[in-house]
Order: sequence, then structure tokens, then C-alpha cells
Amino acid sequence: MRQSQLFTRTRRDNPSDEEAKNAQLLIRAGFVHKEIAGVYTYLPLGLKVLNNIVQIIREEMDKIGGQEMVLTALQDKEPWIKTDRWDEKKLDIWFKTEFKSGGETGLAITHEEPITRIMTEHITSYRDLPVYAYQFQNKFRNELRAKSGIMRGKEFLMKDLYSFSKDESEHEAFFVKAREAYKNVFRRAGVGDRTYVTFASGGIFSEFSEEFQTVSDAGEDTIYVDEAKGIAVNKEVMTDAALEKLGLDKTALVEKKAIEAGNIFNLGTRFSEPLGLTYMAEDGEKKPVVMGSYGIGPTRLMGIIAETLSDEKGLVWPEEVAPFKYHLVSLGNDAEVLKLADELYEALEKNATVLYDDRDTRAGEKFADSDLIGIPYRINVGKDALATGSFELVTRATGDVSKLTREELLAR
Ligand code: ATP
Ligand code: MG
Repeated sequence: MRQSQLFTRTRRDNPSDEEAKNAQLLIRAGFVHKEIAGVYTYLPLGLKVLNNIVQIIREEMDKIGGQEMVLTALQDKEPWIKTDRWDEKKLDIWFKTEFKSGGETGLAITHEEPITRIMTEHITSYRDLPVYAYQFQNKFRNELRAKSGIMRGKEFLMKDLYSFSKDESEHEAFFVKAREAYKNVFRRAGVGDRTYVTFASGGIFSEFSEEFQTVSDAGEDTIYVDEAKGIAVNKEVMTDAALEKLGLDKTALVEKKAIEAGNIFNLGTRFSEPLGLTYMAEDGEKKPVVMGSYGIGPTRLMGIIAETLSDEKGLVWPEEVAPFKYHLVSLGNDAEVLKLADELYEALEKNATVLYDDRDTRAGEKFADSDLIGIPYRINVGKDALATGSFELVTRATGDVSKLTREELLAR
């Protein structure tokens, strides 16, 4: 893409109404627009990043047998009443409204209730199980805190997968696969080295649920990390009995601030029983389906990457999530240089994603913008390239500079 065609602009100053580093940088670089506190629009560059994150998650969910679908944002209250989660006293983050034709509805906060009800129409026998269904869908939560930028939205994208299994052992086998799939997601998204499987309370069989917590000073959670084992526990699990069960030594744990990037839950029959999701077992007995839920916030993950991998100059995108892989920058307005840059752009663009800064702007401004936008590799095309036939390739994350010929660049 030619940068002269991109409608978004960068800005030098931090927005005054935004405390979180992720939102400050993403707004300054033109990735997101703040509509209301906790409610953000994804602009062209931001949508590219979000789509890349979604694609990583989609591939990993498909690999473990997930079937993608999309549920509705407007919720029928009936199943929520049956599970006792419609009442404001039980869940105070609902956005509710009324139909003109009468009756209430709420905007989806999560989807256990509707998906469990849907499955009653498709699961009747042990032959129908297991089933793994997932979606990417906007959730709406009337969150009180809105100081974390896109890491905590009132409207945000969630990937939620639900597992439906015959029994505990079938559930457990999938749970283990889901844990590995999650590790792949965070590794591919560039935060694997700082994201810990964190044991939390709320499990049905194993007593624990698992959160994936990314260490960050901006985190709202506190976790206790065993660096040697590469796992952590949250506050609720910091009891002697729980630590013993997990084989962890309290003195080896280091306290850190972290943000939850995802979680995997055993739900047992918490939803299948009240909603009547049962199946006929091989022995002819009717049994409740055993469920699990597996969430990741792609918009939160984008915020986590922006928050934790950025530096004083701006964003630093890992290759798989970056909006473009190369930032080609023409320097000066020498006609020969511009022709060389144009030609290189046409050639590179055939095999790679390239943002081409073809604007008639000072070099210093182009470099500052390039650092702010955070594309992994910058290629400078100036007079020296014309003279020597080789181009400077700058790695955003490290600042490393190498010189490559046109052939070498194309071979890359
Ligand atoms: P938190 O404790 O941070 O509020 P949660 O326990 O409410 O998270 P879930 O309801 O399990 O989270 O949602 C699944 C995933 O969705 C979370 O792991 C997180 O990645 C993402 N998520 C949850 N709430 C938000 C939000 N307000 N904005 C953006 N992403 C969110
Ligand atoms: Mg929450």
C-alpha cells in the first residue's frame, strides 16, 4: 500500500484523555480511534493487526477440531434466567434494553447460555460427541474500569470456544490440547516468553482453572511466578493447600503485575444441567454433557502486544501480527531515487506485504512515523542506494542495520 493513499494520520502528542500506553501509541500511530471511554474503532492499520491475530487464533482452534460459527449479540433472556445469570445482582455488567414489541434483551457478555441451548438441537447421543464450537464476536460489558485502553473495553472482540464432551476424561484430553493451542497462539503473537499458564480457582474436576497471564506493569492482576517451572498462580491460589497440590514452593514464587490474555475453564455440568443438554450414553443412560469454555480477547491481545513490546519511539509489531512486513521509505525528492523506490515497491509487493512511504515529506518525519507505526523491517531508499546499488534494511525491534542488494531483498 502507498502511504500517500492511507487516510489515517500520525500525531506527535499523546491524547490527553488516555492513560494507557497501548491506547496512546495506537491512537498516535492511527491504528484505533477512541469513540467513548472503553469503546474503540479499528482503523485500517489496526484492523490489519486485529485480523492477523484473529487468523492465528483461528488456525490454532481449527487444528484442535474447532468449528467456527457466529452467535448473536442480542440475547434471549430465557436461558440466562434458567442459569440464574440474568439478574443484575448476579451479573452487574449487562447492557440491557427493551424491544418495542415488548420484552427485554441484553447485549452478549459471553455465550455459554445460547450455545448450550443450540446444542440441545444437535446433540442427542454419545455418537454426537465430542463437539468443539467457537466464534469471534463482539462482547459488551458495562465495565467500571476503563483505564487500560483497548485491554479493557466495554465493547471488545472475544474468541470463545465451547467444548462438549461425554465425560471427565474426554473433557480432560481436550483441555490439554487447548492449553497447547493457547501456548502456540501467544508464541506466534510474540508474547509467549512473557505469558504464563496461571492456576486460578474455579475448576470443576481439577479444582483449578487456567489463565494465561502476560507480565506487564500495566496489568490489573497480581500473579506469583515460578520462573524455573514457567508457571504461575494467582492470588486465590496462594494458599498452602493449593500450592502443595500444584507442587509449588512458596519461597520460589515471585510477585508480578500481569494482564489476563486468555483463560480455559472446566464448566462441568454447570450449564448443561439447567438447560437440559443431555445425551444417551452407550449404556442407555441419559447423562448431562460435560462442558468447557476457552476465551481469548483478540483486541486485548493487540493491546498487550502494543503495551509490552513497544519502546520510547513507538510500536514494535512481531512479524506475524504486523500490519505489513516491510516499510519501504523513499528519502528526498530526487527523480531517480523516486523511480528506484517505485520500482522496488512494485517488485517487493508481489511477494510480501509492503507499506511504501511515497509521501513528499522530510526524512526525519518519515523515520519518526516509521518508528511509531512499528513495521518489523524498514528499507531506506535514498541517494546512497542509487550510488551503491544496495539498500539499508533496519530491524525495528533491535535497530540492527544491514545492506542488501535488490536481488538479496527480493530473495528474502
Ligand atoms: P478480566 O478478569 O480481565 O475481566 P474475565 O475473567 O472477565 O477477564 P472472560 O470473561 O473469561 O474474562 O473473557 C475471556 C477473555 O476475553 C479474557 O481472557 C480476555 O482476554 C478477554 N476480555 C475479557 N474482558 C475484556 C474486556 N473488557 N476488554 C477486552 N478483552 C476482554
Ligand atoms: Mg471481567
